[in-house]
Amino acid sequence: MASRVCLVHYHEIGLKGKNRAHFERILMDSIKAALAAFSVSCCTRISGHILVTFSVAGEAERALEVIRRVPGVARVSLAYHTNREPHEYCQAAVRALGSSGEFSTFKVHAKRSNTDYELHSLDINRLVGAALCESFPDKLVRMRDPDRTVNVLVVQGSVYVYAKSIRGVGGLPVGSAGKVCCLLSSGIDSPVATWLLARRGAVCVPVHFSGRPQTADTSEYLVQDIIRQLAPAIQIGRLYVVPFGDAQREISLACPNNLRVIMYRRIMYAVTERIARIEGAKAIVTGESLGQVASQTLENIMAVNEVVTLPVFRPLIGSDKQEIIARAEEIGTYDISCETAPDCCTLFMPRRPETHAKLDDVHAAWEAFDHDAMIDALVENVEYIDFESSSYHRPRSLREVHDTLLPRMKRLSDR
Ligand code: ATP
Ligand code: MG
Repeated sequence: MASRVCLVHYHEIGLKGKNRAHFERILMDSIKAALAAFSVSCCTRISGHILVTFSVAGEAERALEVIRRVPGVARVSLAYHTNREPHEYCQAAVRALGSSGEFSTFKVHAKRSNTDYELHSLDINRLVGAALCESFPDKLVRMRDPDRTVNVLVVQGSVYVYAKSIRGVGGLPVGSAGKVCCLLSSGIDSPVATWLLARRGAVCVPVHFSGRPQTADTSEYLVQDIIRQLAPAIQIGRLYVVPFGDAQREISLACPNNLRVIMYRRIMYAVTERIARIEGAKAIVTGESLGQVASQTLENIMAVNEVVTLPVFRPLIGSDKQEIIARAEEIGTYDISCETAPDCCTLFMPRRPETHAKLDDVHAAWEAFDHDAMIDALVENVEYIDFESSSYHRPRSLREVHDTLLPRMKRLSDR
């Protein structure tokens, strides 16, 4: 009797030469972590695929949708696992094709790998093809561009048969590309920017600036909802929260009205860079898109960017809002982002923010308050909350950091 398993296909990690085994290990760890709530009995590499088996019937079907969302997965197939008896795998092929939806044409593609099996691929094609023609007499065999390809993969003592795959999100497994700090608001854009970096294999450590104590802490909970929404496929291990309201008030009192937003942003970037250094993160990520709002003109981006030396990645810089919304819907963060919450973005906003800031004016405004002391104080009072994650490793220096840089660091969940 055939059992159902998931076969995971990956592209890019196949290109990584000697690193391949390392990337495959990270991908397997991601898949296992994403399936923690399932009865996974084995997750292993077979012949250029990752095989996932389950001890409870019916779970492979449900796991497909979770595996699909794991970065590094190009495609995932629900396969039948049988022994090498032709009768068994021919029957599995009939079931696989029969349950693959509407089709008119098909072909069989058999492949043998590391096996002493006496039948060759062409023999298997013929055998399975004959069984399928008998079961589906009104369907046509077509070698070029058929509606369905029934794949038969023979690996040692086992045969895997599948007729349909679903697309994965692609990219690289999280943890294969180092660590980045993401400026994460509860808006639409920054969750998408974070997701894009995670899909390229980066471990994302979000930093959220809250309007607290000048506003309620609603945005902090929305950001946590966003993090939970990205899981279990993308597991964010730690969220930093910076209560920013009082600093914004200080800036709004000291600086020209039109330059407030740029000052807020400069402080946000500087604090995030300090957290990035503690975390060992090598870049900062934002959800900025060119010209989308006043603070995202080239002049203003330049005026903010100059306070940091780490690279700043803006994966959405060339995207239209509609494209970003479509992606936010796909990853499930859109509805959360549409809930309104007062955060630091809505606090002390000028009526007419500068759209083309002149650097001299920006520098004069920056000197109008003690920005170094403000950055130190914000870093000292940063808070964090930890989440389940297999890819995040807390900074090794955190003990020392606790005692020196972040003496009052505390967990949000303790509040
Ligand atoms: P988003 O939907 O990501 O909030 P936005 O269109 O509202 O973007 P801005 O408010 O100008 O744009 O923010 C630009 C970027 O600055 C955001 O994408 C995010 O990376 C960062 N940012 C803005 N507000 C915050 C915040 N409260 N905490 C952390 N980062 C923020
Ligand atoms: Mg925003």
